[in-house]
Amino acid sequence: MQKIAKKALTQLHLDLGQDNFSCRICKFCGMSYAPGEENDERMHTAYHASLLQGVRFMGWQSERVVRRDELGGRILLVLPSDSAAHLKKVKELSNLLEDQLGLVNGWLLSIPCKVYLYVAASKRVVGAQETACGVRVIWVSVEARLQGIASKLLDVARSTFVAGYVIPRQDLAFSQPTEHGRKFAASYTGCSSFLVYK
Ligand SMILES: [Zn+2]
Repeated sequence: MQKIAKKALTQLHLDLGQDNFSCRICKFCGMSYAPGEENDERMHTAYHASLLQGVRFMGWQSERVVRRDELGGRILLVLPSDSAAHLKKVKELSNLLEDQLGLVNGWLLSIPCKVYLYVAASKRVVGAQETACGVRVIWVSVEARLQGIASKLLDVARSTFVAGYVIPRQDLAFSQPTEHGRKFAASYTGCSSFLVYK
């Protein structure tokens, strides 16, 4: 996966040459912060945990649950016509993924997408898939990997994207896959020459 450069938004300090000024760049999440600065530390802890453990999510009163699984997780579908509060959460998550994947800010939601969220029993979104005419992004938090969550998201999307029709695995198209994503797509679709769209 591509490591991101430090994010302009997260630079809270100007280095004006103070003697004791020190900024650290986290090797895991790529964020730069000043150790010992309360605000910086807090922002870094939250950002870091989102990538590692998923994004905190307390649930919505009216959720569109499309599947529940044996791990106590559930998959929610969010549509472009949903309430502003729901779309705000999707945007927050999209921004995080864009940062991590080195995508242009705003690209993921620049066209109307159906978004599938995997919410774990830990009350965190640990997997997400955004889909338009193909899979725009699919993501699983670091600690939630190797549990089949990406496959579950794709299975649900294939059977709920068009009413009354299950899209065959090999008909799925993926956008800008990373190396890791490429391997996953090949194994999921069963063909190394899976469809790619721009
Ligand atoms: Zn970090």
